[in-house]
This record gives sequence, C-alpha cells and structure tokens, in this order.
Amino acid sequence: MKKHLLLPFVALYSFLSIAQVYTLPNLPFAFDAYEPYVDAQTMEIHHGKHHAAYVNNLNKAIAGTSMETTSMNNLLMYASFRSAAVRNNAGGHYNHNLFWDILAPKAAQKPISDALQTAIINQFKSVDSLQKLINNAASTRFGSGWAWLVVTPEGKLAVYSTANQDNPIMDVSKERGIPILGIDVWEHAYYLKYQNKRGDYLGGIWNLINWGVVSDKYASAVTDPLLKELEKDNWLALKDFHKVMAQTFHPAEENNFEPLLTRSGELYAKAILLKNATPPASVNNPKVQDALNRLEKQCLLIHQLAQKPSKNQAAKNEQLFEQITKAHDIFHEVEGLCHD
Ligand code: MN
Repeated sequence: MKKHLLLPFVALYSFLSIAQVYTLPNLPFAFDAYEPYVDAQTMEIHHGKHHAAYVNNLNKAIAGTSMETTSMNNLLMYASFRSAAVRNNAGGHYNHNLFWDILAPKAAQKPISDALQTAIINQFKSVDSLQKLINNAASTRFGSGWAWLVVTPEGKLAVYSTANQDNPIMDVSKERGIPILGIDVWEHAYYLKYQNKRGDYLGGIWNLINWGVVSDKYASAVTDPLLKELEKDNWLALKDFHKVMAQTFHPAEENNFEPLLTRSGELYAKAILLKNATPPASVNNPKVQDALNRLEKQCLLIHQLAQKPSKNQAAKNEQLFEQITKAHDIFHEVEGLCHD
C-alpha cells in the first residue's frame, strides 16, 4: 500500500531529473555527398561505428551516476577528474558533433562572415595562412588527435592540436577555449582513401569546410558564458595550489613536517598544473609567468628533499623549512603581482 502512495512522487522525481542520454545525430548529408574528398564508406564507418561507439560508451560510463544530469560542458571541463571512459567518450561525442556540423559539400556551403574574416585577417593576415597553421598543427600531432581553431577566454583566435579525443574545453588541455573548427586526424577519418597520407587528406578536407557554420560558431562562442568559466577555472589552479601550500607550510611552521613529507609530490604536481594553466588575461604577463616557473622549480626541489633518506631528521626538517619558506614567498609574490 505504501509503495502505491509513493509511486506518483517517484514518477515526478524521475520526470524532474531526467537522466541524460546522448544520441547519435544524423549526418546532415548523404554519405557520398562528401566525395571525392572523403569517401562514402569512410563517412559511413566514421559516423555509424566510431561516433556511435563514443555515444554508447559515454551513456554506459555515466549510467547510474550523478553525471547523468551533468552538462556536456561540465563533463569536459573537469575531464582530469573523470575516468578515462568519460574523458574519451564525452570528448569523442562532442568533437564529432562539431566535425559533422562544419563539413558540407561545396554546393551547400555558406560564406565566411565579415566578423570572422576580420578576426582572421587581424590575427593571421589571411584565411590561407590560418589554414596553413591548422594544417601544421594537424600534421605534427603525433598519433591520433584533433587540430583546432579556438576562441580563447580573451576573445582571440588560437590554433593548436590535442591528443586522442581531448579538446580545448577540457582542463587537460594546456590552452583553453571554445573550438569553432576541428579537424579529425585519427586514421579512421582518412585511412581507407588516403592510407597513411595525412597530408593528402588535409589537402582534401578544406574543400568541405563550411565557413558559414564556422562563422556562426564564432559568433556564439565570443558571447558564450563558458569562456568566463574557462578563464576562472584556469585561475582556480592558483587556489588549488594555495590549499596544498597552506596545508603543508603552516604545520611546518609549528614544527610538524608530516604533511609536507607526505604531500610534497602533490605540492609539486599542483605547481606544475598552476604553471601550465593559463592565468586570466588581466594577470597574464611575463612577471607572473617567471614567478610560476620559479615556484615549480622550488617545489621540485622540496619534493626531492622530502624524499631523500636522512639519518638526521632534524637537520632535514630545517632544510625543508628553509625551502618551503622560499616557495611560500614566491607564492605570495605571484599573488601580489596578480593584484597589481
Ligand atoms: Mn573520428
């Protein structure tokens, strides 16, 4: 009887928190519409097997977890904290959605917008030289990955590549931003027609880039609140470092070296992450970068010292305290520089 009373509430609850199920979108054109630059069989396998597998595996990876109601952007942004299955398959799904969006046969392509064209000319001199940069990023990506044109949190354009199914939204990407054009350089994207000749595939794929859609993506990216979140997220690396610094330095001030001895590796890792995260535009200057470099080196020194076996623990602690104090000073130097 009780169960019956609960039923409407259970139904309401599941209605309110609808579990996210990702689906494979249809390709906007027939498989053979991308010929001769990409052959029909490649399109069919790429879409129906590879992309479909990312969708299925993503759904499996998040099933029954709180990630069922997490947004795609959030899955991507915190990729470093998630399992390989979530990172690879969320990336795979997002990246391929973008790829299908921006590819079109010549007749269906729309021209580039004035806004994007101006931004490209201002930064890269011409669309041609931008294409060369993207080709260079794509051909020098070792193994599988993607080459990107990205809108950065500063609202600029950037070109780089990422490995596997990573992308610029992810915290594992050294540079962050919203991708508006991506070129898949996995062999599954070109092997049947081009075999190992990635350069020939890159020569062909530009014939399929729909600059009109890339322009639409540019227009929405520059006003997307996600850019501010990415900027803030990168700066969180400082807060993240600060936490471990405080939890190891302050006990050491009271002659408790246990936290520092056990967490020196973590402190060093946070220093690396901090150095690699791009600071917000307003504080991204050579002085800050220099201090972050020194901080990383100092934390490495501390970590090595902490791991070194010693018969004289008191002497070792004294040395450790001297070095952690230096690191603490550099950290406050960074903070001070940032508030200028
Ligand atoms: Mn692919």
